[in-house]
Amino acid sequence: MFTLSITELNRDELYQKLSNQSAGAIVVFEGWVRDHNQGKKVQSLEYQIYHELALKEGARILEEAKEKFNLHQVLSVHREGHLKLGEMAIWVGATASHRDDAFKATRYVIDEIKHRLPVWKKEHYVDEKPEWVFCRDHHHHVHFEEADFYSKQSKVIDQNKLKNARVLVVGAGGLGCPVLVSLATAGVGLIRIVDPDRISLSNIHRQFLYSPNLVGEKKVVVAKARLMELNPFIHVEAVSEFFKTDHLKDIDLVIDGTDSMHAKFEIHDACFKFQLPFVSAGVFKAEAQLRTFNPGQGCLRCLEGETPDDSLLGNCNDFGVLGAWTSVMGSLQASEAIEFLQTGTNTTSASTLYLNLKNLSTYLLKNFANKDCPVCRGEGDLLLNSLEVLHAQDGHIVDIRNMSDEEVAQINFQHSKTILCCHRGVRSKRLTQQLRSLGHESVFSLKGGANSLGE
Ligand SMILES: [Zn+2]
Repeated sequence: MFTLSITELNRDELYQKLSNQSAGAIVVFEGWVRDHNQGKKVQSLEYQIYHELALKEGARILEEAKEKFNLHQVLSVHREGHLKLGEMAIWVGATASHRDDAFKATRYVIDEIKHRLPVWKKEHYVDEKPEWVFCRDHHHHVHFEEADFYSKQSKVIDQNKLKNARVLVVGAGGLGCPVLVSLATAGVGLIRIVDPDRISLSNIHRQFLYSPNLVGEKKVVVAKARLMELNPFIHVEAVSEFFKTDHLKDIDLVIDGTDSMHAKFEIHDACFKFQLPFVSAGVFKAEAQLRTFNPGQGCLRCLEGETPDDSLLGNCNDFGVLGAWTSVMGSLQASEAIEFLQTGTNTTSASTLYLNLKNLSTYLLKNFANKDCPVCRGEGDLLLNSLEVLHAQDGHIVDIRNMSDEEVAQINFQHSKTILCCHRGVRSKRLTQQLRSLGHESVFSLKGGANSLGE
């Protein structure tokens, strides 16, 4: 059994767990925190571990050792958190009928754990600032400095601006993978990844953060571990959920890596509500487009009033997609996001890029802003969706399906919030606009009408 522990390891207890009269012998390896490493005086160290993956991979390693070396039993515990000098960092014990097997198995387990587990080690020194140490290569430790990591890009960007940036990436799929790798390696200080999906085999040809041995794992968990491996100087948050407005908290910029129109519109509306820029891309067959939505420069609702139905369009499940195509578009999204974080604007804020990935024709079409668009006019919140209505405790719903326009106009709007509900949300929206223009600011329209409530 492989476990992790935040408290000091007790070797007597561990021995007892392996006591076995038919084994006759035990081989144990203990790793301790020592007071020096590569000429530096070590004071203490810190382990950061990705539980979900580490436990699974650790169990796998012990299973392999048991099989390979014909063990009776094998047990290992890895410490996490802050460790003092002399403390035990890892304990591996193996029992076998033949001592050679037990020796080899113990060696195998410790080497594989060092090599395969998502474990990060930070060394604290007596008279220098702490450093992250790369544990994967068990033959030698590599120390590194943050400035060296970015030395080849410091001439093209202001690293501090990126370090202080907080970016939300919705979707860790075909677009999300290149976006995430580019942002992480560029040094975006905080990356929050939102995606509810698990890895499937058909994802991997374009979603290169994943591999076949991880099918069934949560995408965000694997993506986070991979990104932290690529760049230990950033923070990554993994949220295995569908996008919701809460995910925008403390975020500077959003990147949309989803492949459904419904999701894109949802992210779009939420970003406009909170005045956040977001970079969106779409790939349909070999046709791709890229646009940054920046409040004040037009929006999707300027063109399309209602959210289009996904079933009327297609996505990669229907038409197929090439990994090279989504990689190009994801990289462009990341590049536009970085430009925006650096300068407060970018090319695709003003124009949408259309790109044919087969013949490589491109054109930039100036974005259209509709001066009557309710979202751009900041009236986007005159629409409430059914969930928001549920949470609107200070409001009440008025069913206007059997009321005339005149009767609606007679309603007493003194309540703090009045939500009009018609069949599909079209008439209630029109009436809400009229009533607001008459000064009734607390009137709202239920988006999608009674249909959206499942009536
Ligand atoms: Zn608009």
